[in-house]
Amino acid sequence: MNLHIVKSRESEQFVEYDLIKVLKCSMCLGYLLPSLYKNPTSDNTICFYCHYQFTEVEPELNKETIEKVSKTNFPCRWRGCETTKLGVNLVDQELSCKHRMFKCPVCTDDMIKREDVISHVKEHGSYRGQG
Ligand SMILES: [Zn+2]
Ligand SMILES: [Zn+2]
Ligand SMILES: [Zn+2]
Repeated sequence: MNLHIVKSRESEQFVEYDLIKVLKCSMCLGYLLPSLYKNPTSDNTICFYCHYQFTEVEPELNKETIEKVSKTNFPCRWRGCETTKLGVNLVDQELSCKHRMFKCPVCTDDMIKREDVISHVKEHGSYRGQG
C-alpha cells in the first residue's frame, strides 16, 4: 500500500473543476446539487435551492446529468468552507455549513453570516425582537 498520498488528492477530496464547470444551475449559476429539477421557463436543469422559487417544478429526468452529479465531487458553495463531497452528500453539508450565508429579508440581495443575521436586520431599524 502506498501511504504517501497527499491528503487533498484523495479521491473524495479531489474536485475536477473542468468536469463540474458544465454542471451548473441555470438560475443561480452555483453547482447543480441533487435533487435536480427542470426549469419551468426553459429546458435547463436547476438545483435543489432554486426549485423553491417555483410553485410547480418537475424533477429532472436526464439520467446522464443525475448520475454525473451524484458521482462527482463538488466544493461547498459557501466561501471560506473547504469541504468537498459527492453531490449526493454535499447538500446536507451546505445546509448545516458554518459558513452558510443568509439573505437579508429587508435588503434582499445581501448575504449575511448566520451569526450576523440579527444584528444586520436590526440595523435596518425594522427588527422587533422578543425583548
Ligand atoms: Zn440554483
Ligand atoms: Zn461548507
Ligand atoms: Zn439588509
